[in-house]
Amino acid sequence: MTILDDLQAIPVVDHHCHIGMDTYQDSQGRLRDADSHEKAYARGYVEGRIGPDAYTRWLDAERRRDAAELADLEETYGISGMLQRALRYRETTVFAASLADGHRFLDAQVGFDYRSPRARSDVRALFDQTLDLVNCPVVLTDVRALPEELADSPRYRWVMRIDGYLYPFPLGRTGRRGEEVESFTARFRADLQARLDELGLDHAPTSFAAYLEFLTSSIKHVVANGAVGFKIASAYTRSLAFVPRGYREAESAWNRAVAGSFEDRALYEDYIAFHVLRQIATWRLPVQIHVGSGHGEPGMAYAGARPRLLQSVFDQRELFGIPFVLIHGGYPYCGETAIMAHTYGNVYLDFSWMPYLHRTHLVSRLNEWLEFLPANKVIFGTDTGLPEMHVAAVRNGRWAVARALERGRSNNLWAGEQAIWLAERVLKDNALEIYSELGVAA
Ligand SMILES: [Zn+2]
Repeated sequence: MTILDDLQAIPVVDHHCHIGMDTYQDSQGRLRDADSHEKAYARGYVEGRIGPDAYTRWLDAERRRDAAELADLEETYGISGMLQRALRYRETTVFAASLADGHRFLDAQVGFDYRSPRARSDVRALFDQTLDLVNCPVVLTDVRALPEELADSPRYRWVMRIDGYLYPFPLGRTGRRGEEVESFTARFRADLQARLDELGLDHAPTSFAAYLEFLTSSIKHVVANGAVGFKIASAYTRSLAFVPRGYREAESAWNRAVAGSFEDRALYEDYIAFHVLRQIATWRLPVQIHVGSGHGEPGMAYAGARPRLLQSVFDQRELFGIPFVLIHGGYPYCGETAIMAHTYGNVYLDFSWMPYLHRTHLVSRLNEWLEFLPANKVIFGTDTGLPEMHVAAVRNGRWAVARALERGRSNNLWAGEQAIWLAERVLKDNALEIYSELGVAA
């Protein structure tokens, strides 16, 4: 028996995924498959060749399904040929290999036609079957709201993104290259609208005090409706350096924003972030925070995505009871992620996303983290809402943990039972412990 054989028998808890997100339909309601996911990762190649102005025109035309504009752009730039070349260059990546592995694995399952529109429209049946195949009894999923068909199953637990609360005003385009900021800002605004809708409000209150009251009620509402944790994805749109602010300065920056001037928006955003975290602290619910890498397209400002910037949050005495999980390992700042988990007893890290983006790097990081950090700190996750990617991420994740444990064993660490115990901590028990009060059970 190899270590990997032992690990196959260990059920995994997926600490961060997007099952139930609008993965199967694009903004026009067209059915998508995993290949369109791959195309989204290839967009930076196109942007770097046609330039930011034509790129914006192209994305706008795609969103509007403007056939005449798309034909014009194709005639001028040959975008479909560029995408084909970009995909060809991406064939050597772990991402492409994972996608292919996931397809091969699911294609080999007799009687499971997971590609058919019918299978893909029944999200619950599709994922129940997919997750059973890889022995994954519990997933925490980051979606705007848990779809009804998933909500009555203890397998699917809801993690709510709080970024919508920070951006109640339309901020317009950044003027920089790429669309990462714009696309996340649009998602966050749709999140906010969903939170307003569920409390029967058409729009956000314009007085700062009333807005803060709305936030308090909204957090209560989502907890009552099953949120087991929260997520901050704002590294995509601003710096993670949230600074404690006084009420007066935050309120006057807010009033200037109401009047259309957003220069000081960091002041009220910071205040709102701490206000929301204080509410969460009263329940001691976990908060996942995106650190490090974004997608392969210009836009994200990495200077603000470094894990150590979060010390201004972690150092707040009133927030000590929140388990914070830094997600995606923080690539390329994996050491900084570890040092935060090392420093604060309530800070953890998950390596979601990495199982389908990295192979040797992930094994090396697992060795780095598991050799340095206590056994309760490192958590598995997939970061996907696609069945093909999900099975690939679980299989790659188990493989990477097994390789790291083998390396540890050959370095005279983690012999025998201790290696399996450590694998159980990483694959399921660490997540279960953090979310335990909420009745999540594998
Ligand atoms: Zn994610």
